[in-house]
Amino acid sequence: MSEPEIPVDEVTAPWWEATRERRLIVQECRECGRLQHYPRALCTGCGGTDLDFTDVSGLGTVDSFTLVHRAPRPGLETPYVVARVRLAEGPLLLTNLVDADPGSWRCDTPVRVAWRPLPDGRHLPVFAPSNQD
Ligand code: ZN
Repeated sequence: MSEPEIPVDEVTAPWWEATRERRLIVQECRECGRLQHYPRALCTGCGGTDLDFTDVSGLGTVDSFTLVHRAPRPGLETPYVVARVRLAEGPLLLTNLVDADPGSWRCDTPVRVAWRPLPDGRHLPVFAPSNQD
């Protein structure tokens, strides 16, 4: 597993809180309706600041991925897969792919969110093939 990619600050705090309940949420702009991830202070579509959060399905497809053979630091099991997943709702999410042979992943594979617990009660969203539970 890699480290969480999203820093904790006042903008991302609600996103992290939702992971305690294994809820995947993305930011929604109330001005133009755009969904975005990760949480930012401004809408990437219209620059608006009236942003809320909305639940997403946790379904998506593999947009791109990298098989990591050499860990960037000790303590990580290799190989592991770093990927960009396109959520069914549109936003992209940087994550890890799990529960399949690391060499077997292909772009456009349907995936669904799985959760990896963090020591403090939060969870990290990772993605597994959606055709198996
Ligand atoms: Zn907007």
